[in-house]
Amino acid sequence: MLDQIHIDNLIALIGVSNVMYGGLGKRSDPGMSAQNLGADVVVNPGSQAEIVKLVEYCNLQNISVVPQGGRTGLSGAAESEPGQLIIDMHRMNQIIDVDLVSSVATVEAGVKLEMLQNQLSENGLSVGVDLAARGSATIGGMVSTNAGGTEAFRFGTMRHRVLGLEAVLPNGEVFSDLKQVIKANEGYDIKQLLIGAEGTLGIITKVVLALAPADSNRTTALISCENARSAAMTFQKLRNRIKGDLLCAEIMWPEYAYTTARSLNLGKLLEFSESPADVFVIVDIATNSLDGANSYLEDLLSDLIDDQGIRSAVVAQNGREASDIWKIREESFLCDEKYPNGYWYDMSVPLSHLDQYVEDIHARISAIDKRLKLFLFGHLGDGNLHLTVSSGLSCPELQPQIDAAIYDGLREIGGSFSAEHGIGNQKALSLKKHSDAEKYRLLGLIKRTMDPNGIMNPGKIFLY
Ligand SMILES: Cc1cc2nc3c(=O)[nH]c(=O)nc-3n(C[C@H](O)[C@H](O)[C@H](O)COP(=O)(O)OP(=O)(O)OC[C@H]3O[C@@H](n4cnc5c(N)ncnc54)[C@H](O)[C@@H]3O)c2cc1C
Repeated sequence: MLDQIHIDNLIALIGVSNVMYGGLGKRSDPGMSAQNLGADVVVNPGSQAEIVKLVEYCNLQNISVVPQGGRTGLSGAAESEPGQLIIDMHRMNQIIDVDLVSSVATVEAGVKLEMLQNQLSENGLSVGVDLAARGSATIGGMVSTNAGGTEAFRFGTMRHRVLGLEAVLPNGEVFSDLKQVIKANEGYDIKQLLIGAEGTLGIITKVVLALAPADSNRTTALISCENARSAAMTFQKLRNRIKGDLLCAEIMWPEYAYTTARSLNLGKLLEFSESPADVFVIVDIATNSLDGANSYLEDLLSDLIDDQGIRSAVVAQNGREASDIWKIREESFLCDEKYPNGYWYDMSVPLSHLDQYVEDIHARISAIDKRLKLFLFGHLGDGNLHLTVSSGLSCPELQPQIDAAIYDGLREIGGSFSAEHGIGNQKALSLKKHSDAEKYRLLGLIKRTMDPNGIMNPGKIFLY
């Protein structure tokens, strides 16, 4: 833990009620990892000026800083250890402005996604990025991880939504680029370095977001396809045909879909499928009225059914059925409950390679140990796959082989071993291994230039 002298000085900087230590820090919800609260000294600044004071102090005293938002990150990027200082952003939760003429929102970094979504939807607008952790994930955390989610094929990732931002850099200086426009060619785009930096280059305090139109009524359909290639073709055909009205396109392989569906007692929803080997696609489609929606979607899908390997499809008949279909997709942790000790992966694969890639990894994993199962699902629209490999048994000795089976060859086909969850401390070694050497050198150069004392979230992205 930090020495008492530092704790006293932190209290002098931002007040006793905003510094938690001596077990108090551990009383917060650790989120996705108990190690998020490993440091046990948590400060809750209420303004950018307070963050400047904290960071200046830490830089001077060589104290490592771990910024935290909703602690929903999935790659260990918010984990901390004794001797470090957690800067918790939850008090910086003001929606500063929603400009309806420019369709732009300016928010503090600690604003939760759902809170912003709720306010925007009253005005027919949305963030353009959505994810299942919306109730806890903060805009600052989402910018720092360059979050993607289900709408990325329509609106891009956070990188594409951020028009401007403000951040406290590791030396305590404030970087301010609060543009509200899309076009601004003014030399290197420094704010893009902070997006996806996972708190290693500074603490984001304020964000300007370009907003997207809110979706109208949506209807959900569940489609079964012969394989991933036909799933990808179905996505492209639907998209070409109905364009912006295709809101989401998600994919689940059978091992995953049947495991979550049975755990939820929703196995019946998958009975329309003709073969146990079918791949499932969930699509949401925008429709003006719920009444016309079902027949519209049914007509659309029946046109596609004879084509490209769509086998069958069902349209949700009401909101309850739609929500049950989405539960099968979103309750991914049920697979971990049934088959614990798994290894998680998050890759991007070009759609034209999807089927072959998935076939290859099944064969490679089976060659390692026949008991290993692959629970595979993802955001079909952008080729982002989430995968858990598990036999239920603990097998740390197999992890390097499993990593290689999943990652080898991905770069060569134009994919990525790290799609949307970031590098954190879990994939730092893989980043070194799977990056272009010159890119990796430049990453290190940028880090050392902006944070020469290495105080900002050390051990994340980089091994040191
Ligand atoms: C059920 C579930 C579903 C999910 N689905 C998706 C999904 O579809 N797509 C997706 O991309 N992710 C998804 N995630 C992962 C997670 O929600 C995102 O990574 C999210 O962006 C993290 O936000 P957070 O506020 O919780 O950040 P945290 O977990 O608190 O922090 C994540 C990283 O951001 C840094 N950070 C946080 N705030 C700041 C700040 N103000 N300034 C600088 N650095 C900061 C931290 O240091 C850390 O490196 C999911 C997670 C869960 C639990």
